Amino acid sequence: MTALMDEGPRLLRGGPVAAAIREQVAADVTQFKDEFGYTPVLAVLVVGADAPSLVYLHKILDGCRLVGIGDRLVELPADSAEADVADALRTLQADPRVAGIIVQQPLPKGIGLRAVIDALDPSRDIDGIHPLNAGLLSLGYEGFLPATAHASVEILRQSGVRIEGRHCVVVGRSNVIGKPVGLLMLRENATVTVCHSRTEDLASIVRTADIVIVAIGRPEFITGDMLKPGAVVVDVGINVVEGRLVGDVDFETASRVASAITPVPGGVGPLTNAILLTHLVRAARNQATGQMPLGAQSLVLSTPEVR
Ligand code: NAP
Repeated sequence: MTALMDEGPRLLRGGPVAAAIREQVAADVTQFKDEFGYTPVLAVLVVGADAPSLVYLHKILDGCRLVGIGDRLVELPADSAEADVADALRTLQADPRVAGIIVQQPLPKGIGLRAVIDALDPSRDIDGIHPLNAGLLSLGYEGFLPATAHASVEILRQSGVRIEGRHCVVVGRSNVIGKPVGLLMLRENATVTVCHSRTEDLASIVRTADIVIVAIGRPEFITGDMLKPGAVVVDVGINVVEGRLVGDVDFETASRVASAITPVPGGVGPLTNAILLTHLVRAARNQATGQMPLGAQSLVLSTPEVR
């Protein structure tokens, strides 16, 4: 341990991995345009101009321009009805160039997720919010993964961290991060424990983990004394504290114990956007070649040859 503490942990940075992914996406987009003769478009649907996620959504659109993907922002007034949101989705989906759609989350109070899901085409759901895509993930089929969850696991894979056979503790069980991360780590053959706000004696469970993935939205909540020496830590949290961005892990104390850790900012965040672009290209190709996601036409999973 002395050597570890002297040298500090290995920093798992998302930026370099994201740059390599973007380069590949740019090449894929060029090939797509040559093959199919049009530019695929990523659309972002925002309800209410002061949505807290607006900065994040604009970054996604900026990222599209860098790799040659078309970008479209659709803004609806904050007092829109559910039917307006559904209409906006249907209008976007009538355009075959719109290959993927991201809907701002959280939605304003008057708009239920159900209204979005009922109107959203699962083959364009590149951030994996549709139950069809969630179901495909849980059954082990290929659907669209929530991008942040995908990035949280991809950063481990791309950094060469061994996952198979190790104990992974996921802290947080949201539908967009914690749950899909747990399923993805299972798919990678980790032994997975998922913790949440009702978990008793969280510290003692986290201390058994070889890999800890934290997504709770509580600034610097997981501290070094909760970690097993040498643990690998993925901090998905993004919190603003006194004008500073911090994660859900206390970086200073965790760094003294972990063998590898994602910084905030600069860890999972940059990778999330790059991964969304890969989802967009996959969606565009599926649509251009007529491949529908399993179950998109019939919700009965009755295609045994797919396994
Ligand atoms: P969320 O929907 O609020 O879910 C938080 C989860 O954490 C819930 O499952 C909750 O448990 C659990 N939790 C809360 N307090 C806890 C505690 N004291 N001990 C154990 N578990 C606790 O949040 P989210 O959307 O998953 O986001 C999580 C974090 O990721 C936030 O910081 C968010 O800003 C960040 N984020 C990052 C990115 C990125 O690209 N890096 C993208 C999106 C979000 P219950 O289920 O029991 O309530």
